[in-house]
Amino acid sequence: MVAGIAQRGNLPAQPLISYFLKVSVFAEKLIAWQQVHGRHDLPWQHTRDPYAVWVSEIMLQQTQVSAVIGYYNRFMTRFPTIASLAEASQDEVMQHWSGLGYYSRARNLHHAAQTIMREHDGQFPQDFDQIQALKGIGRSTAAAISVFAFQQQQTIMDGNVKRVLARLHAIDGWPGLPLIEKQLWTLAESLLPDKDLPAYIQGLMDFGATFCKRSKPRCSDCPMQDQCQAFLQQRVLQLPASKPRKAIPEKQTTMLMILDAEEILLEKRPNQGIWGGLWSLPEIAPTQVSVQQVQEKYGMQTESLEVLPVLWHTFTHFKLEITPQPLQLSGQRSSLPPTMQWLSVNDAIDAALPAPVRTLLKMLQQSRY
Ligand code: SF4
Repeated sequence: MVAGIAQRGNLPAQPLISYFLKVSVFAEKLIAWQQVHGRHDLPWQHTRDPYAVWVSEIMLQQTQVSAVIGYYNRFMTRFPTIASLAEASQDEVMQHWSGLGYYSRARNLHHAAQTIMREHDGQFPQDFDQIQALKGIGRSTAAAISVFAFQQQQTIMDGNVKRVLARLHAIDGWPGLPLIEKQLWTLAESLLPDKDLPAYIQGLMDFGATFCKRSKPRCSDCPMQDQCQAFLQQRVLQLPASKPRKAIPEKQTTMLMILDAEEILLEKRPNQGIWGGLWSLPEIAPTQVSVQQVQEKYGMQTESLEVLPVLWHTFTHFKLEITPQPLQLSGQRSSLPPTMQWLSVNDAIDAALPAPVRTLLKMLQQSRY
């Protein structure tokens, strides 16, 4: 490196003094922006309770603030402390997460609450490495908890922050690539101010989520215009680079809606894999004959009823085509393992179900009653 020149990753070389002046100006501008335009009244703000910060940060992963608020309030009413969450059954935790998606988050939250009770005497750890060692807490979430609950000097890195930094410094390349992500972490750490850290971190979150958005960023009103390299180079909508596209594979399944009187048979999914730990409908491959499969797998005689319309559900990595097959029990119920239960259709709708399964049950209810 040439003496007196700062060269960070593929950031443009700049005189050292001017680089740090700009860093300081960025933090000051962001804190000032946050105080006027940032979000101040979300239910998890104005608290230093690490548990409340933790729950909110986990819920906010890949989920919009507006979708989280109701879930967060209900969850915190039912599980107001780490101890109450740790003592709850997994079923009840999943029920309070049902519809929010990415269910491993709820399982990990429950697991980590039990770890805190067992290994930290019920006190949320303050040590950064110990926070990060809890199940489901990555570097960025650990940083948010450290800043908001313990006022520690850490920085976050979610999709919004990546976008803001990639634009401000015209960083090329998809931010999901390890090399680019490393550059962004280094840059984010170098930008941390010495004071007002919670306001700065909240500002980073809010600025990316509400102002420097992926489409229609508000550049014409932006206080960062004069230092935003993407704006100055007229490359705002090209940055950050998009993830290289792959065709999303499609999968098919048949969900069995086995009915007896007003009740339906549910099966609990294994903890690993999609919808882990949630109640769902028994499934068979589309090529299998449903009546025959029910006889072979569960020892029960059934008759096919009219099929319901096909439902598509999109996951991050694939699309699932669900064919719902209602069946009427025509013989005796067989004894079932603990992972299966009969529930009235009404109760089943309120159970901890994946959202598309709840949709199917409502479709069934409308078609029958
Ligand atoms: Fe984002 Fe536009 Fe502001 Fe740059 S000028 S930080 S792209 S809103």
